[in-house]
Amino acid sequence: MKETILIVEDEKDIVKMLEYNLKKEGFEILSVRNGEDAIESANKEHPDIVILDLMLPGIDGLEVCKSLKNNTKTATIPIIMLTAKSQESDKVVGLELGADDYMTKPFSPRELIARIKAILRRIKEHNKLPEVLKIGDLAIDFSKISVTIKGKPIELTAKEFELLNTLIKAKGRVLSRDYLLDTIWGFEHSMEIQTRTVDVHIRTLRKKLKSEAKHIITVKNYGYRFEYED
Ligand code: CA
Repeated sequence: MKETILIVEDEKDIVKMLEYNLKKEGFEILSVRNGEDAIESANKEHPDIVILDLMLPGIDGLEVCKSLKNNTKTATIPIIMLTAKSQESDKVVGLELGADDYMTKPFSPRELIARIKAILRRIKEHNKLPEVLKIGDLAIDFSKISVTIKGKPIELTAKEFELLNTLIKAKGRVLSRDYLLDTIWGFEHSMEIQTRTVDVHIRTLRKKLKSEAKHIITVKNYGYRFEYED
């Protein structure tokens, strides 16, 4: 089955260039010009990835990102943001909102395709995990990507789930922020952005895990580990 990519961009030349290059790679392409249509299309068509320009008429890219990540129907769809050099701070906000990666304009289509493929590959890897893992009151269902505490469902974003999953898979080993970023977000950028992004997601994950957050141990100036007994 062909994978579908939703392009959200109002600049016609960029859309054309992306359509041409992505179709050549065998992807199915949907494209919309504004944020309203992006949200509607993502809900209706369930693309495998969204390429989201941040600068859009009407609802901007960050709002679109927020809306998609806060809706359980679209929360797991990976988002690659397209940003201008002048939007450094928006990029950080976007990553905190749950976007998976970004590309700064101008970018090479080949680089974008490499990132798309890396994300799709990561998703496939994660889909191969064991079915259900129980740790105390916590139950993690890898096939349904769902987490419950005492049977009650906990709503995690795709990134929070991946973070939890990666920590658990390490079986008590300490994982550095760099490692977590590389594994979950899959890119290497400035240290400041990296550290903040991981910490922000750990914070929201802990909040949602409530009493079960005790398993996530902070290793000062380094990273995190997940502590539990088999
Ligand atoms: Ca634009």
